[in-house]
Amino acid sequence: MSQPVNEDPLDTPLQFLKGVGDRRAADLARVGLHTVEHLLFRFPLRYEDRSRMLPIASVRPGTRASLTGRLVHAGLRTTRRRGFMIFEAILSDDSGSIMLTWMNQKFLANVLKAGQHLVVYGLAEMKGHGGLQITNADFEILDDEEGGETLHTGRIVPIYERAGAVTPKQQRKLVFDALHRLPPDMRDPLPEEVRQRRGFPTRYAALHATHFPPSDVDLETLNIFDSLAQRRLKFDEAFEFQLGTVARRRLALAEQKGGTIVVTPQIRETAKRVLPFKLTPGQFNALKEIVDDLQKPHPMNRLLQGDVGAGKTIVALLAAVVVMENGLQVAFMAPTEILAKQHFATLSTLLVTSRFRVALLTGSTTAAKRRQYLAEIQSGAINLVIGTHALVQGDVLFHRLGFVVIDEQHRFGVLQRATLREKGLHPDALVMTATPIPRTLALAMFGDLDSSSIRDLPPGRLPIKTRMIPDARRDEMHEFVRSELQAGRQAYVIYPLVEESEKLDVKAATEMADTLQQQVFPEFTVGLLHGKMKNDAKDRVMKAFAAGQIHLLVSTTVVEVGIDVPNATVMVVEHAERFGLSQMHQLRGRVGRSQHQSHCLLVYQTPMSAEAKDRLSAMVETTDGFIIAERDLQLRGAGDFFGTRQAGLPTFRMIDLDRDGGLMDEALQDAEQSFALVVRTPHDISELLRSWSARFRLMEVG
Ligand code: ADP
Ligand code: MG
Repeated sequence: MSQPVNEDPLDTPLQFLKGVGDRRAADLARVGLHTVEHLLFRFPLRYEDRSRMLPIASVRPGTRASLTGRLVHAGLRTTRRRGFMIFEAILSDDSGSIMLTWMNQKFLANVLKAGQHLVVYGLAEMKGHGGLQITNADFEILDDEEGGETLHTGRIVPIYERAGAVTPKQQRKLVFDALHRLPPDMRDPLPEEVRQRRGFPTRYAALHATHFPPSDVDLETLNIFDSLAQRRLKFDEAFEFQLGTVARRRLALAEQKGGTIVVTPQIRETAKRVLPFKLTPGQFNALKEIVDDLQKPHPMNRLLQGDVGAGKTIVALLAAVVVMENGLQVAFMAPTEILAKQHFATLSTLLVTSRFRVALLTGSTTAAKRRQYLAEIQSGAINLVIGTHALVQGDVLFHRLGFVVIDEQHRFGVLQRATLREKGLHPDALVMTATPIPRTLALAMFGDLDSSSIRDLPPGRLPIKTRMIPDARRDEMHEFVRSELQAGRQAYVIYPLVEESEKLDVKAATEMADTLQQQVFPEFTVGLLHGKMKNDAKDRVMKAFAAGQIHLLVSTTVVEVGIDVPNATVMVVEHAERFGLSQMHQLRGRVGRSQHQSHCLLVYQTPMSAEAKDRLSAMVETTDGFIIAERDLQLRGAGDFFGTRQAGLPTFRMIDLDRDGGLMDEALQDAEQSFALVVRTPHDISELLRSWSARFRLMEVG
């Protein structure tokens, strides 16, 4: 078989490599390696310096050594164990000699012969015979290698992760052969101008130097993937990713929204009348950025970040008023029914004197009511609809939908936009989140989303006092809670969800509620809330807690998002060591909502891992959600920040978001600058986005 001409050499099937027959090809295919590209972009896990040759006499037992010398003896030896063979050889240089043995590798008898010049690498150990010995050494016969270039020894050697039947050594050999088939003038995806300005080697040179680094490159640098060649390849990936981001932004700019929005002095007045207090500077700025966007011809796609209690709702409502004043409808979505109801209560109260009609549409809306609402939404009689995901997913038809607000769930928010677009709707969209997303992640996940942040809190809030309490001293916690309840305040006790068994969790929470009610706080009313309860039961409990009839609410993490009961001043987190940092911060945000001093008590079991300790300490040290988010990212790493992969983090081959944020920024600048050079036609854009989505397996964003 000869290789077809004019094809990208990276697309060459691996069968074309030396020594890859059907069987080896099948082994490679099983682990996802089909083409030269797959092989060459499976980078070493780490590197080992095997370049410094030691005189044999200076080898110390217990160390790994690279040696070179001549074989003075080589032969098979049988042992007493039947069928077990040892191949023995003696390697000599001017300084001395050492024994080499290989277990059960009979074929070596046909490979290694006395007189050959060898380079070996391996662990030297003291053996029974009193001399040094290396067992199963990596070796290369120099006389047979063209130009004396070694792969596995005598250099900085790449160590690959074993993949199925393909050993690290085999991959090394394959990579070496593949590299030598590449034409030095192979296609380079980086514009020449960018490459030169950044002082990067060509892609060809970078691939060579990444797999088989020249001996003058620092080993440490290689092992943190930061040599110039490695940076060049990481930059390629970042650049490719950012081209997609830029493409999406440009497409979004070209998109037209349904209706135009203007802001007149009269509209400003109406909005002011809705406002029950003065906005903080942070709220004011965010609102300004949003309203500026509303007046643009393309749909807004904006993230509003702000700590729990920062007052995002009112900002969204004021923007909604502007939109409704322009004759367009608004959909306001919350992740749970409880939250939807709460928003409905807040928003309909604020809008009570306005001419706008507000409706709540959820899973528990009766069929008759639902039918009525659907008709009124379709006719435009209802201006603002509040609900859960179902709002845009189901059969709801809007008269003129102009603005979508998505609360507390950026992941879901991102998906909703795609759904809306499929329905031919192009409303402005505002996604609100109380879990600030560290900048690097935000860029990678939502590079095409604009972002506003509220970093201040409404005036008069007392910072929440947080402390850690070991489980053994829970009496202290009980006494503290009692004193707050006696002062007329309310408290939460949160139980963690252990994913394996929701049943067990519910049982733990239920038992906890019983114990607290009967044995600890008989004089108060203890309530229970968990995910397995029916909606109306949950509702009753929440209402009773909001009304102050329940003093202490035991709950699983369902209260995590958005619940607003200002009189609650104590948040007890049980098994705090099991919670993620951001999640604890969210929970803490349930208190600190009034003029009363609030407290967060983190009850933990010992012993606790160092990481858990770090998390709890971070909680004690700061109440700033933006700092918490950065700490959380450091502690968990990007992959785990949102808990799961489906969170929409792109899959990178080389980029590590914890480490390569700076590179991503630089690549974004270059992608912006040279976009027109790389992407010339609308066809190019759609091609780019297609391969981009496939490559980074991102869910539909924006
Ligand atoms: P979040 O950002 O967590 O969604 P909310 O919008 O629920 O916060 O606001 C928290 C509380 O703060 C609400 O009770 C709200 O009425 C109040 N609030 C918001 N902004 C201000 C402000 N500028 N001045 C006083 N109170 C405010
Ligand atoms: Mg909120």
